[in-house]
Amino acid sequence: MNDSSYLSYPDIRIKKFTFNPLRENTYVIFSETKHGIIIDPGCSSQSEQNALKQFVVEAEIKPVMVLNTHCHFDHVFGNNFVCKEYNIKACAHAGEEANIKRFTASAALFGHAAEQVDDPEYSLTDRQIIKLGDEDIEVIHTPGHSEGSVCFYYSAQKILISGDTLFAGSIGRTDLPGGNYEKIVQSLKKLVLLPDDTQVFCGHAHDTYIGVEKLNNPFIIEFLDDY
Ligand SMILES: [Zn+2]
Repeated sequence: MNDSSYLSYPDIRIKKFTFNPLRENTYVIFSETKHGIIIDPGCSSQSEQNALKQFVVEAEIKPVMVLNTHCHFDHVFGNNFVCKEYNIKACAHAGEEANIKRFTASAALFGHAAEQVDDPEYSLTDRQIIKLGDEDIEVIHTPGHSEGSVCFYYSAQKILISGDTLFAGSIGRTDLPGGNYEKIVQSLKKLVLLPDDTQVFCGHAHDTYIGVEKLNNPFIIEFLDDY
């Protein structure tokens, strides 16, 4: 549901939008200082762009950066719009360059005629720290759904933005170009080391917790027994 409500934590707030026909989740994370990071802007229509814009105005957010968990077309539809609107840059992992190159072809496969998305800065690396106001957000490289998939971890409040690596009860598909099942299992092994009460905001559908996934997610249970 796209309304003006958001989740409030001691130092940051999170607003979730669900955009475009693939029902991709876009997150706006903003600090007490009102600095905001827009993660995976998937807005693909004028009304979705307006919803995002309106929220930024009403919450008085100053967007400072776009971060892409990965660059499948449903996660980058709105990159150009957001970057131009706020005069900010987008950042992704270098492993995502091929997905940006494939953007128009992939979108066309799903019936979308979309203009090519500009290359983000391919600067995200494993364990990199991104500053949001006074808060530190860590990049965790989690290849498997795509080569350059990353998650963003805010340890102070135990919040993980998981992109399409981990879903509630499932994981991202690994049959698209650059996908690799062995790699996503290795990535999930990293994620299960996070505290059980880490809240996970996924690239599609609803949020979950690491502890819940360790109990219920068949893809995690499969390796957890002998891990
Ligand atoms: Zn994806």
